[in-house]
This record gives sequence, C-alpha cells and structure tokens, in this order.
Amino acid sequence: ISCGEAKARSTKQNSVFSEVKDSIAIKVDALLAKMTIEEKIGQMNQYNGFWDVTGPVPQNGDAAQKYEHLKKGWVGSMLNVKGVTDVRKVQKIAVEETRLGIPLIIGFDVIHGYKTISPIPLAEAASWDLEAIKLSAQVAAEEAAASGINWTFAPMVDISRDARWGRVMEGAGEDPYLGSLIAKARVQGFQGDDLALANTIAACAKHFVGYGFPEDGKDYNTVDVGTSTLYNIILPPFKAAKEAGARTFMNAFNELNGIPATGNAFLQRDILKGEWNFDGFVVTDWGSINEMIAHRYAENRNMAAEIAIKAGADMDMESYAYVNELATLVKEGKVDEALIDDAVKRILRVKYELGLFEDPYKYCNEAVEKEVIGSKRIMDAVLDMAKKSIVLLKNENNLLPLKKNGQKIAVIGALADDTTSPLGSWRIAADDGTAVSVLEGLKAYKGNTITYEKGADVVTGETLFPKELTINVSEKSGFAAAVSAAKSADVVIMVLGEHGLHSGEGRSRSEIGLTGVQQELLETVYKANKNIVLVLNNGRPLTINWADAHIPAIVEAWHLGTQSGHAIAQVLYGDYNPSGKLPMTFPKNVGQVPIYYNHKSTGRPTIPAPGEVFWSHYTDVSNAPLYPFGYGLSYTTFEYSDLKVNVTSNTTVTVSVNLTNTGNVKGKEVAQLYIRDEFASVTRPVRELKGFELVELQPNETKTITFNLTDQELGFYNNNGKFSVEPGTFSIFVGGSSDATLTSQFEL
Ligand code: BGC
Repeated sequence: ISCGEAKARSTKQNSVFSEVKDSIAIKVDALLAKMTIEEKIGQMNQYNGFWDVTGPVPQNGDAAQKYEHLKKGWVGSMLNVKGVTDVRKVQKIAVEETRLGIPLIIGFDVIHGYKTISPIPLAEAASWDLEAIKLSAQVAAEEAAASGINWTFAPMVDISRDARWGRVMEGAGEDPYLGSLIAKARVQGFQGDDLALANTIAACAKHFVGYGFPEDGKDYNTVDVGTSTLYNIILPPFKAAKEAGARTFMNAFNELNGIPATGNAFLQRDILKGEWNFDGFVVTDWGSINEMIAHRYAENRNMAAEIAIKAGADMDMESYAYVNELATLVKEGKVDEALIDDAVKRILRVKYELGLFEDPYKYCNEAVEKEVIGSKRIMDAVLDMAKKSIVLLKNENNLLPLKKNGQKIAVIGALADDTTSPLGSWRIAADDGTAVSVLEGLKAYKGNTITYEKGADVVTGETLFPKELTINVSEKSGFAAAVSAAKSADVVIMVLGEHGLHSGEGRSRSEIGLTGVQQELLETVYKANKNIVLVLNNGRPLTINWADAHIPAIVEAWHLGTQSGHAIAQVLYGDYNPSGKLPMTFPKNVGQVPIYYNHKSTGRPTIPAPGEVFWSHYTDVSNAPLYPFGYGLSYTTFEYSDLKVNVTSNTTVTVSVNLTNTGNVKGKEVAQLYIRDEFASVTRPVRELKGFELVELQPNETKTITFNLTDQELGFYNNNGKFSVEPGTFSIFVGGSSDATLTSQFEL
C-alpha cells in the first residue's frame, strides 16, 4: 500500500482505538458515579484465595471475614485462585451477590509457564531470542487463561548484578538494554494484540522499583542507589514495559534511598503516572503497605494506608489496610476522595479492557481448560524454548556432541534423576515430578549404554525448604559407586548445581558454588575419569572456577522446566546446536560480586605499571570474571570481519559487520554491538550493549549484519533524569560477547 494509504489506515485504526478507549472511559465514569465509598475501596482490595471453594463456606476467623467482604463487594481482586471451577465460584459471588455485580480480576504468578513449565526467566534471557521469549509468555498466558486466570504478576523486570540474590532467576539478568527488549517481548506475549480475547491476560511489570539492588544480596534488603543508576540501569526496562502496554505495575518490598517503594510518590506518581503517563493501575507487593511499619516509615496501619494511597498505590495486596482504613481517612479529610476515584477508575478500566464486564465468565470454559492445558502445542513450545536457553560454556577436545552409538556413559548426580527440581522456583500451578529428567532424556537415545549413580544429594537444610527436602548433604557414601561407574565409562555426564528451590524469593546465598558435597564429588570422579561433561542446573551464576580449569566440557542448563531432560539430551547429542549467551556475568568467587560488564572507569589505570599497588583491584583474584556477560559457545565457530561505521546525522549511526560460520556445522550466533561514550557530562560505562542480532549460518556462509544506532541508543540520562545525546567520540565493539575485540570509533 502507498504511504498515504498506510497513514490513513493507521489514523483510522488510532481513531477506532481511541473510540474504544473513550467508550470505556464513559462506562467507567458512569459506574463510578453509582458506587459508595466502601464499594470504591472494595475495588482497591485484593485477597489471597482464602477458602477451598469446594469445601463449606468459612464460618469464623479471617476467612469468614474475607468471605463477608467478598459478598458485600468489598473485594476487587483475588490471587491464587485457580482452575475454572474455583474461579467461577468466586466470580459468581462477586457478580451475582454484590449490589453492583462488578467482576473480580483474578491474579496469579504465571512467571515461567503455568502448569506446563518453561525455563526460568533468567534461562530464557540466555536465548536472546525475543520471538521465542514472546511465544513462551504467550503460551503461558493461554494455559493460565484456560484455568480462569486473567492477570499475571509478571514479567519481573528488575535488573540485578548480584548473583547472591535468589530472585535473579526470575529476571532477565544484568543489562538494561537486553532487559528492556525482553520486558517488551514478555508483555506482548502475555497481553497479545487484544486484551479482550479469552486467551490473553494482563501483564504486571514488577517490582517498581530497585528491588534487584538489595545491599549484600539479601532479599528485601535496603536499596541505596544513585540517580545515575536509577535512571540508566533500573528504570529503562520498566519504561519499556509501559511502552509495550503493560496494564499493571507492582511496587516493591524494598526501600529506595530512605523511602519504601510502596510509599514512594516520586516513583509512582511523578515518574510512572506523571512523566510516563501510565494509565493502568499499581498493585502493592504482598502486604507491603503494612511492611512500611516494619520499615519504621509509618507508625501504624492507618498511617501506612494514607502514605500508600497518596504515593499512588492503587490496589492493596493482602495488607487489609485499604479496606479497613481508607474510609475513615476520607471521612477525617486526611485523604481526598479524588485519589480513591482515580485508583478505582484505573482498576475498572483494566477490567473493561479484559472484557470482564461483557462476560465475567469468559475465562471459565471447562472445555478450553481441558484442551489447552498440557497440550502438545504448548509442550513443543516449552521444549523449543528450553533448547534455546542452554549455554555451552566450555568444550575441549570436541567432547561434545556425544557419539550416538557404542558408548558407555556414566550419568552421575542427584539432579540427573530429578523430575521436580528442573521446574525451578515460582511454578506454583505445576505438580511435583512433572519434568523430564536428564536421565530420561538421555535414555530416549538408544545407541549407548547408560549407568546411573547419584553420588551425593544436593539440597541443603535451609529453613525455607519443605521438610522432606532437608536431607543430609554431607553424606559421601555414594562416592565409591560413582567412581566405579566413571572408571568403566567412555564419557561421564555429571549433572550438578543447585536444586530448583535454592533460588527464588527469600533464597539468597552467601556462597554460590555447587551445594553440599557436589564439588568434592566432582573432584573425586575426575580422578577416576577426566572425560567429564558437566551439566549445570542452577538459578543464578555459580562460582565454578575449579570446574572451568579442569572439566573439558561444561553446559549451562539452568532450570529448564517440564521438557528439561529432552532439551539437554538433544543438545548433548548435537541434534540441537546451542546458541545461548549469558545474560549475567559469572564471577570467579563471591568476593567479586557485584560484578557486571557495564561498570564505570576509575581514576586509576586498568593495566597498571609493573609493581603498582594503588589501582582498583583485589590482591587475591583478578578483576576479570569467570565468564563475561554475552558469552557462550557453539558446536561451530564464527568470525567477525569488515567492521564499518557510517555517521548519517547527529544522532544516527549505521554499523555493519560480516559474520562467517567458520566451522563444520550449521549454527546460530548472537552478534553483539557495544558502545562507549568516551567523554560525557556524567561518567559513562566502559561498554554498553546497544544492539544484537541472532543469526543462523550454514558452514562457510557469510552474512552482513547491520545495526542502527539512534538517539535512543546513543544518549543517556543525566542526574536530573533528563535524556540527551552528547556530541563527541564514541567507541564501538562488535563480537560474540561483552569481551568483543573488533573495534572502531566515530564522532558525533
Ligand atoms: C512477591 C511478588 C508476587 C507476590 C504474589 C510476593 O511475595 O514478591 O513478586 O507476585 O508475592 O504471589
């Protein structure tokens, strides 16, 4: 179509879109006008699923009170109710028993899959495959929607540089550029093009903001970051999520520079709803209004509620603060009813957009539930995502791929035989034991002989684990059998790392090596047979220095979800050529943490004169990480050449490079572009990722890759939050990791 036609079409589309929006606004206003103050506050109140709806109605205690609130229309949303039967039952109360019949919005943590589990979000980020990530969110939304859910508390878009923090498994890693693109892909995947369809659900960008920067890596801990980090590192993925249309945001447990995020008007009102013009709603994190009392920021719940509503938190998740305090605060004149009206309008708008007023039971279709959940199509999607998430960290002597016939293979490690751990943390709707283990995946290949020995257990007795998982991990009685299996094998596959529940919320660690006696097991088996392929299962970067120095082949397989074992086996056998790249730096030891590639320069030289002591370094470990951000190998090799830079205007630059597959098999490479602003009014990082492309090449094939840099990539935020591009010299680096050496410069 012609340019004119395209314009006319898009104006028409825009006007249709704004008509829909306008008509929603009119409906929202009309409904609001009918609501009592209690009913309005009810919309701002969210309860956790408080009774087993198949059992009798609760008669006393907390649950009975919640039930009464539900019947009075004092509940706007519930979380953790799942399954069509249960959702229908609570929705029916809201719709048929309350005065105005306003439907509930049903929330759930659909973090990486729903019942069929995809890789943990950090693993998916390692694919750098935005289409695949989008599809993964899309199928998760479909499954959840088929189970009655219409709102996910995802994506978590918190950037983090601290592998000790347990929730790094839930994010996209350390980089704001990659993190922003992944945030966008996930929001689009969950919400689709039309939120009113019955297989799309509302997304929630969380946790606004700073939650990924807790001091010393302990979950919920104090966050104290400067404006430069806030604007350039932490906020961008949230802005990207907003721009992709995320209909809700969740605030956070942490304080930021002295003010709890939940009570932070600068973040929620000035930035999110002000500058960014966000018109969806903000839900608090679980009980986070009340936590402001523990933070010593509010004296009591009444004061906490006042602070939260004034700061822009629209819906209260499980603090019971709004439902109990807001009406009084309005009556006493401490809170303007206009603030309540604004919050309620936002919540109602999203319910209208989801089509819940047209049909409150549109997500409650038993036939769809039966057909969609666990369907072949969804299983295939999570398998595909799992393969794409694997990162090959080391492969000496072409130990991998494995030969398909006549080999004796010893498989060692408790995780190799585990059908629950691969599901990872945050998979509340999935049943234990529903993942394919590595052993099962390998056994699907028939040509080799496989023996299995556990060797040692993995799980430590940390307080958060269910009792049955707290077993003795110093036990070494299985070592002898593991050694003897290794001795008679051609190749040993050791599956080691962390259990799926070693990471996640509340699961920070001060040591981030292999847990229990797995390191000792690895070293012991190595003495018997050096032909080891180490397959890592983990939810965070691990300190595996010794393994890197000794073990010939290392495969990073994270927690890959339901199809884990098949994905790993297909990569080990070379039926899938790995192309993942690390989304987070792997440290050599925990003392290097926080370690990240886009750090600043210091006033001291990077390579000091011989004997120089006073430069920025440790005396006992080098500054280099074990594996840098963006790193990952393939069964083939790639070469970059012919780097060209063309400055086309003050703020547009084109970079091109040739990429050649120099190996013997077809493979995919993530070509990465980094820039450095050599001199600026605020100090800039030594490198920043500003472009990447996932390219597939046949052996000997060459493709020219072009990156376009615009003001978006070339600029930065100053300490007042103002974005601009400053003229001057820029360096660029192109290659297969953040260590890329092919370089050039340009002037703006
Ligand atoms: C987490 C949130 C989650 C919420 C509801 C909180 O503990 O921080 O990310 O969405 O619980 O389950």
